[in-house]
Amino acid sequence: MTLVSMKEMLRRAKQEQYAVGQFNVNGLSWVHAILDAAQEEDSPVIVAASDRLIDYLGGYRFVATLVRTLVEEKGISVPVALHLDHGKTVNSCLQAVDAGFTSVMYDGSHDPIDRNIEDTRTVVDYAAVHGVSVEAEVGTVGGMEDGLIGGIRYADLGECVRMVEETGIDALAAALGSVHGKYLGEPKLGFTEMEAISQAVGVPLVLHGASGIPTNQLRRAIELGHAKININTECVTVWSEQLRLTLAEDLETTEPRKILTPSRDAIRESVIAKMREFGSSGRASGSVQGVGTIA
Ligand SMILES: [Zn+2]
Repeated sequence: MTLVSMKEMLRRAKQEQYAVGQFNVNGLSWVHAILDAAQEEDSPVIVAASDRLIDYLGGYRFVATLVRTLVEEKGISVPVALHLDHGKTVNSCLQAVDAGFTSVMYDGSHDPIDRNIEDTRTVVDYAAVHGVSVEAEVGTVGGMEDGLIGGIRYADLGECVRMVEETGIDALAAALGSVHGKYLGEPKLGFTEMEAISQAVGVPLVLHGASGIPTNQLRRAIELGHAKININTECVTVWSEQLRLTLAEDLETTEPRKILTPSRDAIRESVIAKMREFGSSGRASGSVQGVGTIA
C-alpha cells in the first residue's frame, strides 16, 4: 500500500472511539519494528520523524524514501502515514511535503497565537494541494519539546477554536497537562478542559507525551475526542534496556545484527502492546477485533 495522509484514519478512529498510535523513528530498527507491528496487528499506523532529529536521520527525502520503500519491500498492506513531528518552521514543513511526507505537524505553539495561526495556515494551504494532512499545536506540552525544557501551558479554548476555524487543520494537539519524556509522579490531564475543547473544535485531538499515562486516563482521552496518541519514550526505553542486556550477556560479540535484533524485537512488542491499548488493532481491514482491549 502507498503511504496515506492521516485525515481518513483519524476521522474513522474518532468516530469509532479508538486512537491511532504515532510512533517516532530513531533509526532503521524503528522503521522495521513499527511497520512489522502494524502489519501483524492489522492496525493503521503513523510513522513519525521529529524535525529535531531530521538531520541525524538523514534528511526529509531520505526518511520519506526509506519508509516508502520499506512499506513496498515488506508488502505492508495496512494504512501507513508518514508524519513530520513538531515541524520547527513553515519551511521545514514545506520541505517535508515536497520530500513525500503524507502528514506534517507545524508547531508554532511557542509563538503568539496570531502568528501561530498565520504560519499554520500557510502550511495548510501548501499541504492541501498535495493531499497532505496537517496537525497544529496550541498551548505547551511539558518537558522536552523542540530540544527545549519547558513548563506546561494549558491550551486556551478560544485559541483552539480560532486555530481550527481559521486554518482548516486536520488534527489539533491541545496541550492539557501531558509531558514529553518521563513523568515525575502521576500524570494529571485536564479532562474538563479537554471535553470543552473537543466539543468546540470538532476535529480529532492529538495527545503528545503519552508514554507513561495510565490506561484509564488514555481511555478517557479517547472518549473525549483523541484519535491520535504519540509514543516515543516507551519505545526508546525498551530499546536501550534490551541493548544493555544483550551487550552484558555476551561481552565478546561484535556482530551488529546479533546485538541489535533483540532491541528491534523489543520495540515491535512495545508498539503491539500500545496498538492493543489504543484499540487500533484489527481496524485496518475494517474488522472489529480489538474492541474492549482497553481495560
Ligand atoms: Zn510532541
